[in-house]
Amino acid sequence: MADGRLVADEFADVTISGVSTDTRTIQQGNLYVPLKGAKFNGHAFVQEAFAKGASAVLWSETEGNPPENAPVIVVDDTLRALQRLAHRYRRQLAVKVIGITGSNGKTTTKDMTAALLATSYKVQKTEGNLNNHIGVPLTLLRLAEDTEMAVVEMGMSNFGEIELLSNIAEPDAAIITNIGESHLQELGSRAGIAQAKLEILSGLRKNGLFVYHGDEPLLTSRVSNLPLPEHVKTFGQTTKNDYYPNAVRMEAKGTTFTINQLPNRTLFIPILGKHHVYNALAAIAVARFFGVSWESIQEALAHLEVTRMRMELIETKRGFTIINDAYNASPTSMTAALQLLGELTGYKKKIAVLGDMLELGDQEVAFHREIGAMLRPEMIDYVFTYGPLARHIALTAAPFFPDGRVSAYDEKKALVNDLLAIVSAGDVILLKASRGMKLEELLRDLQ
Ligand code: ATP
Ligand code: MG
Repeated sequence: MADGRLVADEFADVTISGVSTDTRTIQQGNLYVPLKGAKFNGHAFVQEAFAKGASAVLWSETEGNPPENAPVIVVDDTLRALQRLAHRYRRQLAVKVIGITGSNGKTTTKDMTAALLATSYKVQKTEGNLNNHIGVPLTLLRLAEDTEMAVVEMGMSNFGEIELLSNIAEPDAAIITNIGESHLQELGSRAGIAQAKLEILSGLRKNGLFVYHGDEPLLTSRVSNLPLPEHVKTFGQTTKNDYYPNAVRMEAKGTTFTINQLPNRTLFIPILGKHHVYNALAAIAVARFFGVSWESIQEALAHLEVTRMRMELIETKRGFTIINDAYNASPTSMTAALQLLGELTGYKKKIAVLGDMLELGDQEVAFHREIGAMLRPEMIDYVFTYGPLARHIALTAAPFFPDGRVSAYDEKKALVNDLLAIVSAGDVILLKASRGMKLEELLRDLQ
């Protein structure tokens, strides 16, 4: 299936089970696919792969002579071969694939969609965040033959990437969660980002379903000129959408809402934030398409287990609450998190700890200033920033706040000390920054 040439014929009937690209986690019987990156070359670990039980390995023809007397399949390029294998395997299966892309909320929506479908089908989903040109093929190659639904996250940082992933996975349903600002550097503008996300349509099956954020003009304006599948549903805030929410309320342990399609039933998700209601609506649209009942949807939403660190609520021994959203940050998701903090009721003091938002291109300072400009003491009592970019949040916000309520840090230790000095039982602290800022390191000291 990889379009390769076996170097030694006596190995023609070797049995392969599973595929691995990493000799640290390879398992007995796996096909080892050595990949080449900027800093590593997997071809150097072929002997190690055999020693650990690999039943065969791929080898790029550009890497010189392959090892002799071993089950080695020479291919044009191991990455392309991995992608071809995944595509052909996917085509052999009866599985329905759901592809999920968007600037924010992919993983959350993936987890939600999988949870709703799992009430009625055998489901597999992307593990963690394995959402790129290597992770998507590996996800597909891990599908069991009897899996009925595969929920696959598709990430990107440049044009052409989602098109590739969509053509490999050939989704039966596709979701675009939203258009934000991540990867602005590579894609030039939000319009560029929208265009790149819409590449998900390229592999989408004609009788399939396309679900997208219907309040995003950059999507709605383009969609009408694109070849669409038979079924299209939108979600969003406004009543023109197929799915929109009413009566969204933040409660201590999660968010309640009703939706237009089911007005008399209150739904609950155990996560905070209006943006997660939209993720839930996208997941519901897919679940309904595949015939999941409203009863099952309601039940599954209430018992969601979302991947750690997305708006994770932590109750500390000292009696204050931490909302840990330190997994990543973009202007869209930071704005959403701060609005949420502003809307929360039932806490004494509300404290935002905000770190740098990375990878925003040459507008990065302006994006941080915009966050600073939206902060007001009516929403939030204290603002702590960490890092050289987040400092601009503090500088912009400070004039609106009473003295001493906004402070900027370059060291975590100093930040924690000052934070611990003002926090007390009944308060809530939001932690939010790009992954690279490792803001979750504060958790241990705070708990
Ligand atoms: P990544 O690109 O890192 O894979 P992702 O798209 O998978 O991210 P999630 O991990 O689900 O996104 O969520 C990332 C952040 O975005 C979280 O901080 C979350 O609170 C926020 N977020 C989630 N959904 C939305 C949304 N629909 N709109 C805005 N922000 C969102
Ligand atoms: Mg993700």
